[in-house]
Amino acid sequence: MQEILEQIVTACRPYCSTGKVASYIPELSKADPFALGLALAGMDGKVYSAGDSDHPFTMQSIAKVVSLCLALMELGPELVFSKIGLESVADPFNSIFCLEKEGAFKPHNPFINSGSIVLASLLPFPDGDSKFEAILEMARSMTGNSTLNLNYDVFYSEKFTSDRNRSLAYFLKSTDSIEGDVEETLDIYFKQCSIEATAIDLAVMGATLAGNGRNPVTGEEVFPPEIAKIVRALMVTCGTYDGSGEFAVKVGLPAKSGVGGGIMATLPRRMGVAAYGPALDFRGNSAAGTKALEMLSEEADLRLF
Ligand code: GLU
Repeated sequence: MQEILEQIVTACRPYCSTGKVASYIPELSKADPFALGLALAGMDGKVYSAGDSDHPFTMQSIAKVVSLCLALMELGPELVFSKIGLESVADPFNSIFCLEKEGAFKPHNPFINSGSIVLASLLPFPDGDSKFEAILEMARSMTGNSTLNLNYDVFYSEKFTSDRNRSLAYFLKSTDSIEGDVEETLDIYFKQCSIEATAIDLAVMGATLAGNGRNPVTGEEVFPPEIAKIVRALMVTCGTYDGSGEFAVKVGLPAKSGVGGGIMATLPRRMGVAAYGPALDFRGNSAAGTKALEMLSEEADLRLF
């Protein structure tokens, strides 16, 4: 397996030049566009990795999986999905238009920005700090990495430039979709996006989802199987933005990507796999990372569909 991962990283590095590093969050533009890493974590707890798989980067939208797992644990699916839908959207992840167009003012799913901002406001903890601490703890349990932490440079960079997310959040407040202080809710959201991890960490996170909530490296039962089932299904339909259909066809695995360049994928009962490549395609998915996962799926026969 080690050899396969290394061959794939070498073969896919040229695809880095087909993408562009995200720059709308200024701090993200500092990433090396030619970085590429690949990691795999099995149900026996063994981890394989190649390339820049130990290079830390911010989880960005992949943290939406973490806050969804936490919200489902704390509040249950019925309450969560009374406030947020379960449907995919053809609009970009930060669309305001898609919130308004059906008149229900309910975010379509928990993996678009508006959905995750609603989740941040819903979490049943007394204040913003304790909500973020709970999200960070969940991320640590899912990755088995107790040293995961916040990248403050990315957090402040997003906090001071994110007019679009601020607009989304105030719109949600105006429709009573979120309660409490908007800026406090946004800080939780920006902080969750700025949790730093590596492709190895994300492969273990994928393995925790594959193991129905049991982290195969630490043995911790992080959440019950019903939650893993819901989250994996949403990863198929909405995990890679408005490119989720194409990703399902090409890679064939439930996955969640982020504009930091990470993609976390899961193959139920068998493994978690993750890629890191900050040069993104036009939809916001890692260009070389997607190619690497496609190749891995093909070579190791991982496709679910
Ligand atoms: N922090 C990013 C934003 O809100 C996350 C986007 C993403 O990774 O899709 O714009």
